[in-house]
Amino acid sequence: MKTFDYIRPATIPDAVAAAAEPGSAYLAAGTNLLDLMKGGIARPDRLVDITRLPGLDTVEALPDGGLRIGALVRNADLAHDPDFARAYPAVAEALLSGASAQLRNAATVGGNLLQRTRCGYFYDAASACNRRAPGTGCDARDGENRLHAVLGWSESCIATHPSDFCVPLVALDAVVEVEGKAGRRVLAVEDLHRLPGATPERESALDPGDLIVALRLPATAAAFSAHARYLKVRERTSYAFAVVSAAAALRVEDGAIREARLALGGVAAKPWRARPAEAVLAGASPSEAAFRRAAEAALADARPSGDNAYKIELARRVLVRALTLAAAGTPERVAALPASPFSSASGAFHDA
Ligand code: SF4
Repeated sequence: MKTFDYIRPATIPDAVAAAAEPGSAYLAAGTNLLDLMKGGIARPDRLVDITRLPGLDTVEALPDGGLRIGALVRNADLAHDPDFARAYPAVAEALLSGASAQLRNAATVGGNLLQRTRCGYFYDAASACNRRAPGTGCDARDGENRLHAVLGWSESCIATHPSDFCVPLVALDAVVEVEGKAGRRVLAVEDLHRLPGATPERESALDPGDLIVALRLPATAAAFSAHARYLKVRERTSYAFAVVSAAAALRVEDGAIREARLALGGVAAKPWRARPAEAVLAGASPSEAAFRRAAEAALADARPSGDNAYKIELARRVLVRALTLAAAGTPERVAALPASPFSSASGAFHDA
């Protein structure tokens, strides 16, 4: 492994100043970064350890009814917080769908938001990869690409974003607080990740040194708590990234959908907010026909990037299923195991 400097700043401004230097990388739990370093994919000159920075590991209610979650809060701690799971059940369900129990115990909220793609060619230093080494090409284009993107991809890169957590966050209009050299700003999670275009190496809207210090869920997000689910299809029940996933949140009044929030995972280089599908459902009665129309709208612009045409119909069906589960109502208890579309209890929660 390449040698590197290690520093542990005492304050957020010191951390930002240090990380703004070329060749620097933030270190929190390291559940993604250390793998990348061991494989020679990430080769930072300096690690800026943020794990001892004060004030980043708390969850607090905001005066306006929203929730502020520090960037160093652990995924498992957040998912198992009963108040959090009650108010934002699809987010808790997504967190529990991610990685393994051990990784969820270590991984942080901020790190989850910024994890890198799991494209196999990205992790293979011998492969051509525009995202890792700009201008070298994309071996996935003519390679093993059945898990790659069907929305928002470009000839430069067809990778997908791996996070489960980010999918309901985008649906629920979550924002992040970012501390940078010019001070603090607020950025929608939907705007945090970038589509590849001609510059897939630019993965986020963050500048060098920018540090996510907190995640905020608006008060409006909790209004969907009675009808909110996250459904993930993957190649095994645990410790696998989504082939396709969907977050569905509904506000139902007098038997009609007043408002729908929908997002897809595993289909693009960023969590994919499905606004056309939301518009289809506004004012509609919950029904399979309405859900299917919404799914058609959500995938209207989808196109295969390789051997993955199946993902388009799969995404439609996952969205219909997630909407069906959401319309049936959020179960009272958080799942012991995340919902699986393949289990006989399909989508039903088990008592912990
Ligand atoms: Fe690299 Fe993107 Fe191509 Fe994968 S799909 S090899 S990440 S450029």
